[in-house]
Amino acid sequence: MQENIAIRNPATGAVEATLTSTTTIELDVMAAILKQGQRKWAKVPLQDRLNCIFRFGQLISANKQELAEILTKETGKPITQSLNEIGGAQNRIEHLRQNAAKWLSEEVIVGEGATLENIRYEPLGVIANISAWNFPYNVGFNVFLYALVAGNSVLYKPSEFATLTGQQFAKYLYQAGVPDDIFKCVVGDGETGQYILSLPLDGYFFTGSYKTGLHIAKTVAHKLVPVQLELGGKDPLYVTDDVTDIEQAAVSAAEGAFYNNGQSCCAVERIYVSEKIYDKFVEAFVAEVASYKVGDPMTVDTFIGPLTRAAQLTVLSDQVKDALEKGARLRLGGHALQGKGYYYAPTVFEHCDHSMALMIDETFGPLIGIQKVSSDEEAIGLMQDTAYGLTAAVFSSDRNRAMRILDQMDTGTVYWNCCDRVSPNVPWSGRRNSGLGSTLSAQGIRAFVQPKAYHLRP
Ligand code: NAD
Repeated sequence: MQENIAIRNPATGAVEATLTSTTTIELDVMAAILKQGQRKWAKVPLQDRLNCIFRFGQLISANKQELAEILTKETGKPITQSLNEIGGAQNRIEHLRQNAAKWLSEEVIVGEGATLENIRYEPLGVIANISAWNFPYNVGFNVFLYALVAGNSVLYKPSEFATLTGQQFAKYLYQAGVPDDIFKCVVGDGETGQYILSLPLDGYFFTGSYKTGLHIAKTVAHKLVPVQLELGGKDPLYVTDDVTDIEQAAVSAAEGAFYNNGQSCCAVERIYVSEKIYDKFVEAFVAEVASYKVGDPMTVDTFIGPLTRAAQLTVLSDQVKDALEKGARLRLGGHALQGKGYYYAPTVFEHCDHSMALMIDETFGPLIGIQKVSSDEEAIGLMQDTAYGLTAAVFSSDRNRAMRILDQMDTGTVYWNCCDRVSPNVPWSGRRNSGLGSTLSAQGIRAFVQPKAYHLRP
């Protein structure tokens, strides 16, 4: 295992901090401490556990600017988007405030008669939360806040690209009253994550790539404990010929594709446009993307900052080369930017098809392919031509038409006239290579408990 983790600023490539990785011995100790602590935490009344989470939310809000700067420094996320993420993640806390008691309390199923039947919901125990860097607040809160409220203790491993932020979570949870034997933040990369798989834990909740998710599921399978996977996607958006405002559709689609530099699990990754409006849509789309301010992520009006990981520059170059070789038409960008940092020019291709990697493989960057279609049936076939199943979107003025298309999508989420959106009110889940299980909503609360059936004869 690597002894140290260097935190690099993606805007400059400079090392901002060097952190000591958690050792295997420390991990063993943490697992044992969390096991003991969890038994006490499960007996703390739900309202008291919730109160800790509310205080945590207040502390996060009160320190928002500093936290946003930390997030921007280590991931390159533009500062306005970092502030948006931190503010937006509070809706998870509000969701817990309104729903935790409803979904975690004892249920009386048969309350009269010779045999009474009840269900109680017990925490899983100690869970691992192995997380991603692209939206550490959102994807972290979806797991560790819900797990803590449900009475679990949490071994949290932030991504090695968002470790400073992960350490802030620990600091503010402790300040908010969560005991330090209930939440532990681990420092380390994939090898540290690998060791966590060998610990005797009671559940594994993972956010990250399909490759790592599959490896985790296989490795811990023999333990027969819950495994949840929030993985990648290749999310399609289809613009039908009946959209009333083509320019607005182009602006929304571009934002869905390029927000957070395209590094969102539910970013629009490929666009299909009806031939009847194709030219007008593409011109409006290219104009919109060309207007994005690219630059220093600490500047408030920057929309495109650097990529978080230098290695992704190669993925983008390879997809661009492949698309050019196979006859796609480059409309914008298509190259890394000179100078310091991991910058890639926002890139738009049209006249794409499914022989090209940029229409099939997850891109996770500021690069999009557009393909012309002649019917809804053709669009449906192409949208479904993927191993992933996270989200799918349709822009249309006709709700019935949109619903007919969306009903045929084998994805966890569908969008009509919107995209790249997550809400705590409804489940967040992927199908096939996009994952297993749900966070958020009632399902996401119940994901962190196990039911116990009581058959009682008074
Ligand atoms: P990643 O799979 O490279 O890493 C994710 C986490 O797994 C990191 O903490 C990493 O250190 C750890 N890890 C790596 N190897 C491991 C191993 N052998 N054992 C245990 N842990 C290991 O993914 P990433 O680059 O951090 O995240 C990007 C991916 O995450 C994209 O594919 C994106 O679509 C996906 N994602 C999905 C969602 C969702 O909700 N569906 C949300 C955010 C990101």
